[in-house]
Order: sequence, then C-alpha cells, then structure tokens
Amino acid sequence: MPDGISHKPRTLRRVEELIEAGLLPAEQRDAAEAVAARYAVSVPPALATLIETPDDPIGLQFIPDAAELITAPHESADPIADEALSPVPGIVHRYPDRALLKPLLACPVYCRFCFRREQVGPDGGILSQAELEGAYAYIAAHPGIREVILTGGDPLILSPRRLGEILRRVQAIPHVELLRIHSRVPVADPALITPELLAALDIDKPLYLAIHANHAREITPATESACRALARLGIPLLGQTVLLANVNDNEAALGDLFRAMLRARIKPYYLHQLDPAPGTARFHVEPERGREILRNLRGKISGTALPTYILDRPGGLGKIPL
Ligand SMILES: *Cc1c(COP(=O)(O)O)cnc(C)c1O
Ligand code: SF4
Repeated sequence: MPDGISHKPRTLRRVEELIEAGLLPAEQRDAAEAVAARYAVSVPPALATLIETPDDPIGLQFIPDAAELITAPHESADPIADEALSPVPGIVHRYPDRALLKPLLACPVYCRFCFRREQVGPDGGILSQAELEGAYAYIAAHPGIREVILTGGDPLILSPRRLGEILRRVQAIPHVELLRIHSRVPVADPALITPELLAALDIDKPLYLAIHANHAREITPATESACRALARLGIPLLGQTVLLANVNDNEAALGDLFRAMLRARIKPYYLHQLDPAPGTARFHVEPERGREILRNLRGKISGTALPTYILDRPGGLGKIPL
C-alpha cells in the first residue's frame, strides 16, 4: 500500500484467503492464482459478508474467475482511451469543460469487469506531490475547465488529510465551479466515511459524489448511514451502475437497486454499458436488452429512479446515450 491510504484490516487479497473464507472452491485455486497474478483482487469485509456463493450477484463481481484469462478480439487494455487523452500524469481531458483527476489507482475492492483493470491495483500508484502540482497547473492553465472529477482508483481511500488538501487546492482555482468524486467506498467500505473524512469533504464549492453500486444488496444499513452523513453536508449523491450479465440484467434486479439507491438518497445517474476491457466478456449484455429493461421499468418505478443508459464509445469518442 502506498503512503497516505487508510489502513484496512481483514480485507481478503490472496486466493488462499478467499478459499479459507469459503468464497472460492479449492479446485479453482490454480486458475484463480493465474487471474490474481494479472488483475488485482481485494474483497473488503463489508462486501465479503454479502457473498453467499461465488456465482451470486455479489460474488460474480469480485471473486476471480478463470474466464478472465481469455481476452476476446474486440477487448482492449484501455477501452475508453484514457491514456491518449492524458496531457499530464493524473489528468484525463476529453470534454472541454470537465477534466478527470486521478490522484491514485488503488481501490477498496477490485471489480472483475473494471474498465481500468489494466491500470488499477494496490501498486497502481499514487501521484507524487510534483505530479499533483503539474495536474493543478494544467487545470489552472485551462480556463474552460469548469468541473474537476476526482476518480482513479478511488479517491475516498486517501487519508482525509491528503484528500482534503487536494479538494482545497482544486477549489482554489478560480474558474473551477464544481468538483465531483467517483467512489465505491460508501458501498465497499462505509466505515471509511469517518467524521475526519466528512470534514475533508466539507468544502466551499459544490461537491457532487457519484457512487458505484450494481445490486440492491450492496446498499446495506451501513451504506445508508454513510450516505445520510454525506447528504447532510449538502453533497448531492448520484448513482452509477454497470449493466452486468447475471448480476443485474433483469427488471427486478435493476428496479430493486434503483429503489434502494433512492432510499439511501442516491439519485441513479448512469447505467453504463460494459466497456470491453480484457477478460470481461462473461458480463456482456446486448444493448437491446438493456433498452428493453429500462423501457419496462418506465412507469413501474419513480421517474427519479431511472438513470440514463450510456455507452462510452471505444477509442475516446466519448459517451452517448443508448
Ligand atoms: C465519463 C467522463 C467524464 C464525465 O462525464 P459526465 O457525462 O459529465 O458524467 C469526464 N471526462 C471523461 C474523460 C470521462 O470519461
Ligand atoms: S471500484 Fe471502479 S475503478 Fe476500482 S476496480 Fe471497481 S470499477 Fe474499477
């Protein structure tokens, strides 16, 4: 773990630990080891307790599977061309008025379908102070940037001191009107939403938080209380979901998830079509099926529960609604 990241005990990171916890059949040890050698594995306690079997909707998302070793011809190591659109380390600038700032590439949990799976991991790094200064200078030199989106990796696993410093440096840039953080922490490790972290998030400019969750079971009472504390700071909470085969590709699963999000004060924002990252084909859902599910939900659940179904076009061409 790089410096500046909060310490988390009892997170399962090794294949042997997953087997001991009963989350992976012992006969899959060799295949899982081969997967783990290539893509990071981490299952924090809050998610491990939700997994009943490796192929239930929670287990499928986080337990390594032999199918990840097979890269389909259309899959790409950098499906949305982050690298090509990165003018300085840590910045991705595709849209004129928004820039991504990636202060670190570690996450509290590693999703088996992650679009940045070739980049993220516990050793994926954290921007040095000099690189951060370079990123601030880039934002300051581009007056068109109105919104800075902290993503990664997961910015909310940074220590409150470090995250608070980054947020305050970014909001001090006069033309930055909005800040946004993309995170899985309120779901994956809600205990990290401490009073110290909340104080770090309590900045003067508007801050939005987009929370990634894919199944209603991820919205636990602990997640709900973390979200309540965040909402009390005046931070609007948005939901991001990836449409995933056998996890949430039906009306009941998505309807339950979107309703659970609203109860946790999270407004469903985007339903993402899966990006073609290597070894993720087992999660693919046809766009036609995604459209059908959303069409069928319309009218059955609150309009506020319905996100925009979005495709991030390969090669950095940007997002379009499906
Ligand atoms: C997704 C993305 C954004 C944010 O897009 P919104 O539609 O505003 O949520 C910004 N920059 C890059 C490079 C992105 O991939
Ligand atoms: S939390 Fe996000 S960035 Fe991290 S592994 Fe999951 S999908 Fe990828």
